[in-house]
Amino acid sequence: MTHPFLDLAPLSAERFASIEDRVARLLETRQDVVIMQGEALLPLEGAIRGTAGPGTVALNVITGPYGQTFGDWLRDCGATVIDLAVPFRTAVTAAQIRDAFARHPEIDFVSLVHAEAATGNTNPVAEIGEAVREQGALFYLDAVASVGAEPVLPDAWGVDLCVIGAQKAMGGPAGVSAVSVSERAWARMAANPQAPRRSYLSLLDWKERWIDGGRRALLHAPAQLEMLALEACVERIETEGLYAVMARHRDAARAVRAGVADLPGLEPYVHEDRDAAPVATTLRVRDGLIASEVVARALEIDPSAPLAAGGGALAAEMIRVNHYGPFADPQAVQASLGALSEAL
Ligand SMILES: *Cc1c(COP(=O)(O)O)cnc(C)c1O
Repeated sequence: MTHPFLDLAPLSAERFASIEDRVARLLETRQDVVIMQGEALLPLEGAIRGTAGPGTVALNVITGPYGQTFGDWLRDCGATVIDLAVPFRTAVTAAQIRDAFARHPEIDFVSLVHAEAATGNTNPVAEIGEAVREQGALFYLDAVASVGAEPVLPDAWGVDLCVIGAQKAMGGPAGVSAVSVSERAWARMAANPQAPRRSYLSLLDWKERWIDGGRRALLHAPAQLEMLALEACVERIETEGLYAVMARHRDAARAVRAGVADLPGLEPYVHEDRDAAPVATTLRVRDGLIASEVVARALEIDPSAPLAAGGGALAAEMIRVNHYGPFADPQAVQASLGALSEAL
């Protein structure tokens, strides 16, 4: 008997390459796009370990929990790391980045998270990219939570390593991810004696054995089901239109921020509208309420609402409305606001 997930024909190199090309079109990039066979942490870590070493001076921007992780990897590679942390309820500005360059002209690497689903903020990457280009630094961007929810344009913004995953606004699988790599980034890796080689973390392996060989032979059996899911998810975005998908996310975020004004006990966690990520909206509870308790009660009232308490230390004060992917629609927003209102 046939089964929808089993007994599939092998995924050909040609099909794999065509999925890479479709992801590249989504990012409007002419850079090489490598689809990595693991969750987004794989290219996020692989790109840092491939390009950073003891000679690297990195400006690591911290606007949420992921920035912390990137700083740890950079230090582990022997890089000198200058952390630039801003309050999680705001975004970093290009002026703050320029100021860091003025104080540390030796900076040659910048790591930044575009949007943070965990804190609900988004950073002005286009403006920051201009500053990074003037500095001549390599620009590494985590766009996992922004892709599909707002424009992600590595070529226009001068991003050298742009990592995406499909599991947030793209409404796709979590088990594969992608990174676009500029010529400058490949050159940095090739010159880095510490860059992983013959390793699952290695981007250079994919460059030398996949891209340079004309994408004819895969390095190993691909994550077939996840690749098919990624293909289906990109196809669905193409059919709806990427800009329509983004508009759904933007509208959902606006509706939650507007609706919260009628809910005493809650306020937007991110203060300024322009700093609020379209992918997810974070709320702060007031009046001594406990966020995780409010969420638990709201989910009892409506289990379909895409609600979660903040992670770790934020569980007491933060509620996340994860209105991404299929939940970026007015019904999910109404369900979330209704359940929260009743729970309060
Ligand atoms: C969600 C997210 C990731 C991927 O992490 P998962 O929790 O495994 O989905 C990476 N970076 C950012 C900024 C994210 O928001």
